[in-house]
Amino acid sequence: MDPPVGTPADLVAEAAALDAADGLAAKRGEFAVDDGTVYLDGNSLGALPRAVAARLADVVTREWGELRIRSWSESDWWTAPERVGDRIAPLVGAAPGQLVVGDSTSVNVFKAVVAAVRMAREDAPGRHEVLVDEATFPTDGYLAASAARLTGATLRPLPAAELAEAFGPYTAVALVNHVDYRTGQLGDLSGITASAHRAGARVVWDLCHSAGALPVELDAERVDFAVGCTYKYLNGGPGSPAYLHVRRDLQDRFDSPLPGWNSHAEPFAMSPGYVPADGAARGRVGTPEILSLLALEEALTVWDGVDLADVRAKSLALTDFFLRCVGAYVRGGRVHSLTPALRRRRGSQVSLRCADAEGVMAALAERGVVGDFRPPDVLRFGFTPLYTSFADAERAARALGEVVG
Ligand SMILES: *Cc1c(COP(=O)(O)O)cnc(C)c1O
Repeated sequence: MDPPVGTPADLVAEAAALDAADGLAAKRGEFAVDDGTVYLDGNSLGALPRAVAARLADVVTREWGELRIRSWSESDWWTAPERVGDRIAPLVGAAPGQLVVGDSTSVNVFKAVVAAVRMAREDAPGRHEVLVDEATFPTDGYLAASAARLTGATLRPLPAAELAEAFGPYTAVALVNHVDYRTGQLGDLSGITASAHRAGARVVWDLCHSAGALPVELDAERVDFAVGCTYKYLNGGPGSPAYLHVRRDLQDRFDSPLPGWNSHAEPFAMSPGYVPADGAARGRVGTPEILSLLALEEALTVWDGVDLADVRAKSLALTDFFLRCVGAYVRGGRVHSLTPALRRRRGSQVSLRCADAEGVMAALAERGVVGDFRPPDVLRFGFTPLYTSFADAERAARALGEVVG
């Protein structure tokens, strides 16, 4: 009889060879990760980039502690939302001046969907429908429903696979997740955006699970609006502020439902009448979250010199390798992959359906393997190419085999 394919010794050796050949391997040293734990939850909370602690200490002790209010100008606090937006821009394929950072993803979903409906109505008053992927991350669905209610539009949830065909003369906007948070399926940004535009509708892309994990081409695809969080693959830290992207030629028409004083053309004129600012600043609302914004700014320095094509190549190699290890270590039928085998439909996580997934994930944590559980029966493993190693992937799969075996 032939020896089983992928015996542990083979896979351990293969992981070591893949790590040795990995052009991004040195990036791991820029993060607070250690070899004692396999951290596969960076799609929920990215690991800490080591440079952040010193920068935050300086922001707190000197910029706040000593300069106090002078820091709004002398430490460039006031312009941080646009400046940090411009640092994220190349990671999502956007030219500068189109992203602003502030508030949560939830709040930015609301701004973008309401503004998109208003814009679509201006183009054609009969556009009354808001499309949303029915399996969307819950907050997106809740906020799309509220945005529809406020604008007198109708919410139409439908399967992601049907979105591209669903645009018509009544569609105002579609809110779509680029990568499905539960299954890790990568959506067709190019095809859905083109369909929306052919029908004269707008599209809002939620990039929470794609930015920082794979290349996104907002400018090349002429995406109208995009939002995303910064504490997952962008490693900004717990609760770090989200971004809002409004395509440059739409900025003058962006009618924010939350026109706070920070988005005023002359915020310090303190005038009773609202005049919107030009450019990305129109997406601002109130006083920026300076501490978390500047932590994020420092966290983004890990991307200096990184080619997103290399990130994507490593991400796919990691998920391919992990799936192969799972196949070798986990006895047939115990887990079932929800993540597309097709590379062009795969984000940067692997989701496995498994009986007693919650208990299995707890047992994995006891063995130093951190992923997460999503009800009812999904194990999620996030692969963050800047700091996940192939040895991590092998170790996680082996632990899973032991736990469910
Ligand atoms: C993580 C995530 C969010 C998070 O929204 P918050 O307002 O930051 O809590 C929203 N949408 C999607 C698709 C996500 O994956």
